[in-house]
Amino acid sequence: MNKPESNSQESPSRLPECTPREAAVAVSRLIIERGFIAYFAGGCVRDEILGLVPTDFDIATSAPPEEIAKIFRSARGVGEAFGVMLVHWKGRVIEVATFRSDGEYLDGRRPSDVRFVNAKEDAQRRDFTINGLFRHPLTGEIVDFVDGQKDLANRILRAIGDPSARLREDRLRTLRAARFAARFEMTIDSATELAICAAARDLSGVSRERIGGEFRRMFSHSTRLRSAQLIERWGLDAPALAESNSIGACARISGLPSEVSFATVLAAWRLDRAERAPNNSSGAWRESLNLSGNESKEMIEILEIVSTLDLKWDSLPPSARKRLASRSAFSSALKVLFGVAPERVIEVGKTVARLATESGGLAPEPFVSGSDLIAIGFQPGPRFKGILDQLYDLQLEGALNSKEEAIVAARLEWNR
Ligand code: ATP
Ligand code: MG
Repeated sequence: MNKPESNSQESPSRLPECTPREAAVAVSRLIIERGFIAYFAGGCVRDEILGLVPTDFDIATSAPPEEIAKIFRSARGVGEAFGVMLVHWKGRVIEVATFRSDGEYLDGRRPSDVRFVNAKEDAQRRDFTINGLFRHPLTGEIVDFVDGQKDLANRILRAIGDPSARLREDRLRTLRAARFAARFEMTIDSATELAICAAARDLSGVSRERIGGEFRRMFSHSTRLRSAQLIERWGLDAPALAESNSIGACARISGLPSEVSFATVLAAWRLDRAERAPNNSSGAWRESLNLSGNESKEMIEILEIVSTLDLKWDSLPPSARKRLASRSAFSSALKVLFGVAPERVIEVGKTVARLATESGGLAPEPFVSGSDLIAIGFQPGPRFKGILDQLYDLQLEGALNSKEEAIVAARLEWNR
């Protein structure tokens, strides 16, 4: 089974008083003192071996959920049927899951039932060997039933057990494979890769929320170029985006700096793909990737600005350039353009820097507002906005230099 959606280790009600690791050690110690096994499990063990600082520590234990509830008054079940409890500890929330084996997967997402088992069987239900490791929280000893340490050392991503069967159980795992292989610069075991390609189309049956979440995690990392390339190579782009498979260069993604918004990466990828197959894009990424209204708006705005920079920038008057440069997505649009037209980006940057020093800057406070026009006797109506826009353009161009001049110009325009 995939993890419950709520993955936050911060308790909203209280400020954390210790690190996530300290909280996980303390919680584990109490479980161990009651005579049960408790291990750090999965991603946190992998990250520590790689020398990374895990963001969250999950505990796997032999204690059944009702024992966890007895030890920690704060424990709440999130997937009690799956043996998953959340334990609050000094402002942190730690996920404690009873060792389990997943029953048959009927829907490609959740097992029909689970059995509580030993640590070895629990390791075997996990997706990739690098994610199947345990670590004793007090001694630091690594407990490895799946040869995960070897794969981690050799940087090989390999499914645990039969790759086809594992990918069929939870169809999101194909996309997770792209994320882990990219994030940790791994090669993919050939049987695992073959199974991923064969299972690629099944991704369309996975919820858009989970697919979008995976993309968000993948693209937030600086290794996003590799994940996009793997996704295309494996044919995961077609079911994920509801488009045809298209494999090729991703120059715009490649030119992005490491910290950028999700919408910026999506805009870059969209243009990279549109260049290869102009008729491919269905434009429905908002649905396919379950984007929020703001993410989708930002992506569309970036695409619009890039298109204006491509096609019209040279012929725009200073006022229009200033208006464009003041839009919130402007700098993201330049980042998207950088991978294919760096000289252009530098030239536009210089022009904008110059415009910022001329006639009050890029976005000065307008000399006149709607209430100023009403105060001098104009009736609000359809012409209002047009006049205000015109006055602001003149101000941006340096043709008007004060409120008084703007009022005179407004009267002239109104009486025309
Ligand atoms: P991240 O660095 O993104 O947190 P992670 O490997 O820690 O990656 P989590 O979603 O936090 O991923 O899950 C923790 C562990 O639970 C994984 O390492 C893996 O062992 C197991 N797991 C999570 N999702 C799945 C899944 N879909 N299929 C099988 N095992 C999973
Ligand atoms: Mg994790």
